[in-house]
Amino acid sequence: MAEDSFIIRCDRCGTKNRIPRSRSGERAVCGKCRAPLHFSAGYPQYAIAVDESSFEREVIRFPGPVLVLFWATWCGHCRVLLPIVDELASEFSGLVKFVKVDLDRNPVVASTYQVQSVPTMIEFKNGRLFNRLLGALPKDQIVRNLRAML
Ligand SMILES: [Zn+2]
Repeated sequence: MAEDSFIIRCDRCGTKNRIPRSRSGERAVCGKCRAPLHFSAGYPQYAIAVDESSFEREVIRFPGPVLVLFWATWCGHCRVLLPIVDELASEFSGLVKFVKVDLDRNPVVASTYQVQSVPTMIEFKNGRLFNRLLGALPKDQIVRNLRAML
């Protein structure tokens, strides 16, 4: 379900708007105050899927903080964590970029960063590994780690 939509916070009134992912390229307005909603190109307001061909560009060469979630389709804790990470992407928009990597489809990236279990989150800052967060941490603990990187 979390895969089908994501949240964009209205710049004007702060309302969180749920936008279907299939409409992410279209113009959208706030459901409450009708202000246009902005999709920040560098910091999407949801975790974008990255694979081995785009990891270097999206994470290593990104000039700012990135949180990478390694997840797997069969992982129950990941299903709990994915919508939380999408929420955080909205809340930290403009500050931290959020990406997700499917472990099974991207074994080379996973082994490069020694990801041995899912969920694993790795914080990168200016292309360098900053911190490694193991397991489905509660949201407030992830927030603390994100703030430490800013
Ligand atoms: Zn609004």
